[in-house]
Amino acid sequence: MKKFTFKKIIIALFLIFVAAGCATVPRQPHTGSPQGIYHIVESGQTLYRIAKTYNVDIQEIVWANRITDSTQVVVGQQLFIPGAKLPLPIEIYRPIMQERVEKLVGPKHQFSRWSYITLHHSATIEGNAECFDRDHRIRQMGGLFYHFVIGNGTLSGDGEIEVGWRWSEQKEVNRPLDIQICLVGNFNKQEVSNAQFDSLVKLINVLQKQYNIPLDNIRKHKDIEGKVTECPGDNFPFYKLLTDFRNIARQ
Ligand SMILES: [Zn+2]
Repeated sequence: MKKFTFKKIIIALFLIFVAAGCATVPRQPHTGSPQGIYHIVESGQTLYRIAKTYNVDIQEIVWANRITDSTQVVVGQQLFIPGAKLPLPIEIYRPIMQERVEKLVGPKHQFSRWSYITLHHSATIEGNAECFDRDHRIRQMGGLFYHFVIGNGTLSGDGEIEVGWRWSEQKEVNRPLDIQICLVGNFNKQEVSNAQFDSLVKLINVLQKQYNIPLDNIRKHKDIEGKVTECPGDNFPFYKLLTDFRNIARQ
């Protein structure tokens, strides 16, 4: 009886894990001799960019190299790229320009009265807007809960800002006038990347100016009254974020 309950818990935990994010689905190994080349990781290169450059599914590279954490590729590491014939130069991250963020956010919506910004982490190692949208539909949350998603170089670029359909349609979630921004990652275990932080500062700056959102109305998900959550994780640099904004305001 005890054993049976334990088994049930394991199955439940597995289902929660699968539903919680974009869990990596293990693939069948290739048979025969795999064709491909070795790519040596250089400074600033992410797995996302490498996969994109070689036009190979990121999961193929993850599998071929037995990678457990797709945010952790290190300089000098040799990555086997299935199907590639020649080593290619990889475009490295460049900080997003303020004008680009303004373009993504778009002009001020005349009838919108956004007054709050709530910050989340995805609590997953990898992800992007598309897979969170799928996941949130499965969880009956009405599709992507976030207005903006900031990637970590796994399934979207490091610091890449994705605009969710809720923003395009100016739709609120269950909290009125509240903009939801999610950073991909689990910040109980990982750190926010420099590129993510830089994009977050720029994004908030644009939104804050457009809608006149007071600094006090920028909050972590867990700071909302009545919420029992660890989101956006203990390592989320909220204090640094506010300090940066206070400094910007003083300039
Ligand atoms: Zn959250």
